[in-house]
Amino acid sequence: MLHITKENIIPYLKEHMPDFDDTLPATITMVGEGSEEEDGDGYVNYIYRVRNAREALVVKQGTAVSRISGQEIALYRNRLEYDSMRIFHAIAPEYVPYLKFQDEENHVFVMEDVSDLKIVRFQLAKNVMFPKLGRQCGEYMAKTAFYTSEYYLSRHDYRKLQQRFENTELRKIMEDGMFLDHFGCPFDATLGESFWAFADRFERGDYRTELFKLRRNFMSHADALIHADLHTSNLFADAERMKVIDMEFTFVGPFGYDLGYLAGNLLSQYCAACFKPFPSENERKTFKAYLLAMVKSLFETYVETFTLCWAKDAKARYKDQQGLLTSILDEVMHTAPGYASMVNWFRAVSDIPYPDFDVITDVEDRRNATVLSLMIDWALMFERYHYQSVDDLIDTVLSMEERFLKLVRG
Ligand code: ADP
Ligand code: MG
Repeated sequence: MLHITKENIIPYLKEHMPDFDDTLPATITMVGEGSEEEDGDGYVNYIYRVRNAREALVVKQGTAVSRISGQEIALYRNRLEYDSMRIFHAIAPEYVPYLKFQDEENHVFVMEDVSDLKIVRFQLAKNVMFPKLGRQCGEYMAKTAFYTSEYYLSRHDYRKLQQRFENTELRKIMEDGMFLDHFGCPFDATLGESFWAFADRFERGDYRTELFKLRRNFMSHADALIHADLHTSNLFADAERMKVIDMEFTFVGPFGYDLGYLAGNLLSQYCAACFKPFPSENERKTFKAYLLAMVKSLFETYVETFTLCWAKDAKARYKDQQGLLTSILDEVMHTAPGYASMVNWFRAVSDIPYPDFDVITDVEDRRNATVLSLMIDWALMFERYHYQSVDDLIDTVLSMEERFLKLVRG
């Protein structure tokens, strides 16, 4: 296998892209050399940016061991990521980087460099708002979900998609690591004390049961091709545009997963915003309202877009089945908050760094943000069955915040 380096990358690109002008001066950087804000966090692959006067490209190479953890990780992921990006780009070209080529032999693919936009997580951590992002993400998720589902695809293509994206090895990381292994992680004693004092009538085992129920959904509901790791570090945006990257976890999974996973990330920013320092209380209020408005528009746009796609392009046998559409969207409304809860719980208690909370330097404030997040996660997990719309989810967040602040501030 050829290892891409800064030295061989230009001749490599020329060999694979005859139209690439290798005579132009180019800047080559490796992701990980820059700041976390520019380069993101937690990558497992080798990624280079190559920029000349004509184009800006990203070269992504996967190796047999993760760049960060050193653990073995399936090599096929690079090919699958390229394939899923190609499908998602065909469905929603405005939201996915375009692709240049794939080199299966060396586990490389090359795509558009979208770093004229910024990684959403680190901007939210700095209280930057993206007014269109909720709508854009909702539209991206609903379109990619609908057009890769059996409500649109031929039975044959839908089954082929399931086989092609079996992705057992990467899915296992989520199925076990995310849904099971972290729960019961002993969290900091004082944290645990405040949390359990507040946990009402449910017990640890009840939450674990919910996790198992969601995991069952995650493992067996083959609704559509989903991203499966759509957190805010895998979103690039500015005031006008949004792009989604990092698709190696893709598989045919449940409709509500990406929606809940991203909403979870927004709620953890909300918990951080309740306690992190702001230049003024007014700015805190504005930013918190923005985050909840984004959760609302994310869900509402998802429902609207999915419904429009259904009316326009569902197969004839499904089109008039309003009751079926309603039951799908109800299921999304009941499962997505559970996934949000699961992912936030995981990030709040696991050892991996959590940039959303790392901006809170005061130990007490950080602890409060974490306990608030756990409380919201707890409530979402049990109350989700009654939700009729995203407004009910937001009510849970606000009522938990109110209860928690009363307890903290007296
Ligand atoms: P990994 O699968 O290793 O997590 P990602 O696809 O998330 O890799 O990319 C890691 C980092 O590389 C991103 O946070 C971003 O900084 C950079 N990157 C990846 N793809 C692109 C792209 N198309 N445009 C700009 N930057 C990118
Ligand atoms: Mg990533």
